[in-house]
Amino acid sequence: MTSKPLRLLFVSTPVGPLGTGLGGGVELTLYNIAQEMIRRGHQLQIVAPSDSTWDSLPVVQIPGNLQIIAQSQERTDPITMPENSVLANMWDYARQVQGEYDLIVNFAYDWLPLYLTPFFQRPIAHLISMGSLSNALDQIIRQVATQFPSTIGFHSLAQAATFVLDEQFFCLSNGIDVSLYEFCAQPKQQLAWVGRISPEKGLEDAIAVAQITHIPLKIMGKLQDKSYWEQIRQNYPNAPFEYLGFLSTSQMQQVVRQCRALLMTHRWVEAFGNVAIEALACGVPVISYRRGGPAEIVKDGKTGFLVEPDSIPGLVNAVSRLDEINRHTCRASAETEFSLEALGDRFEQWFMEILNF
Ligand code: UDP
Repeated sequence: MTSKPLRLLFVSTPVGPLGTGLGGGVELTLYNIAQEMIRRGHQLQIVAPSDSTWDSLPVVQIPGNLQIIAQSQERTDPITMPENSVLANMWDYARQVQGEYDLIVNFAYDWLPLYLTPFFQRPIAHLISMGSLSNALDQIIRQVATQFPSTIGFHSLAQAATFVLDEQFFCLSNGIDVSLYEFCAQPKQQLAWVGRISPEKGLEDAIAVAQITHIPLKIMGKLQDKSYWEQIRQNYPNAPFEYLGFLSTSQMQQVVRQCRALLMTHRWVEAFGNVAIEALACGVPVISYRRGGPAEIVKDGKTGFLVEPDSIPGLVNAVSRLDEINRHTCRASAETEFSLEALGDRFEQWFMEILNF
């Protein structure tokens, strides 16, 4: 804990209001860091798109049109913004109030806040939430990393490696309030898949596992790409899966903890994978492709299995070995490595480094 309370301005993702799930893991990440910073006595204000539904935290709601998600664009696409952009509006607000804060923290995976960094009087910490997807964004991240040392933060080394930075960066991992996730020693014969339903998440591979093993799959998460979902349903008319919708953390963990494992079947370099640590907190082993952040979270053979990427037989084999995993070891891993306290320490250290305290 730092001796001096900081005045922090958190600027959220422009792809959706907080509480809708459109922002993916960024929402839970922002929520958890905000809570922990307040608990530690820091002064905090969050800036987010209108219709954000978090009542328990101080949110300034900013109107404007949402940003298109980066995952749906090509690597060489130019940077685009809609008219009356909520991204631009949030950063205009940040510009106006910056004098009241010590540090601004950017949670957007977007070019604009990085570009604006030298134009601000206050330092900006940029938490980058996805791997490299856009040439223009890569370039501006590299530029900011050179001009403003240590201001770039990543969640995992695998994610950071996609940007090929020579400069120093921070690796912040992630964390959750483990007390909100209940341990379950005796699961039902069912598997879980949790995440945004969008092609980069590879849901169809988890459904293929359900079809082959005849173990029902419980699917939870924001339906982000409806045509992708319809295609999957047509391709697997007889697989035993059930879509439960986008659930609150409390409802989600009630289902996840009763599952034998969480399947992570992502096609991209997952920056972290919040859902992995949420499952572990319930004592649920994680079976994941050995790709991106989850490969730094899951201990192969101890808290789950890491499988050759895109191998459905590999996933099926891991499911057959689930009895080898001790669910208490999974819970313990979440408690020691991914607690809110551990997360708060890492973030404070990052902020202090930027502020030269
Ligand atoms: N999530 C949720 N309810 C659901 C399914 C998912 O709140 O029914 C949240 C989950 O807690 C996690 C996020 O959605 O924080 C997914 O984040 P992750 O880091 O796994 O992937 P991303 O969406 O960022 O690619």
